[in-house]
Amino acid sequence: MKKAADILIDKDLRKTPCRVFVLGEFIRKGNKGISETELENRSKGKFDRVTIYRTLKTFMDADILHKVIDDDNLVKYALCKECEDDHHSHEHVHFKCTSCNTTSCLDEISIVSVDLPKGYKKIEANYLIIGTCPECK
Ligand SMILES: [Zn+2]
Ligand SMILES: [Zn+2]
Ligand SMILES: [Zn+2]
Repeated sequence: MKKAADILIDKDLRKTPCRVFVLGEFIRKGNKGISETELENRSKGKFDRVTIYRTLKTFMDADILHKVIDDDNLVKYALCKECEDDHHSHEHVHFKCTSCNTTSCLDEISIVSVDLPKGYKKIEANYLIIGTCPECK
């Protein structure tokens, strides 16, 4: 796994304390999603909400993170792994564990394509499976 500083260099992003902190948290969590509030709590007041929000937005624009929509509409973010500069895909399954409340990216699970009725055009698909994870079973 790459270090936070290397990813920032790769993406031509300036190294700021908040960026390094946020990226570090995502690297530590691996394939698990983190919400803005969790990041705020983890930073223990070192960075304010606005700075964290802007950092997340920068990372989304730079294809470092993608959004994970939870069942209760809580937005979490997770590291992009499969994304290349020319091929950006987040259509993998997300798994929400009801016991430990974590949401993980299951990148290895491919998604079946759905045939939409005439006139409907897909922009994005979110697949969320709810259950218990291996750590909680
Ligand atoms: Zn991505
Ligand atoms: Zn769990
Ligand atoms: Zn994901």
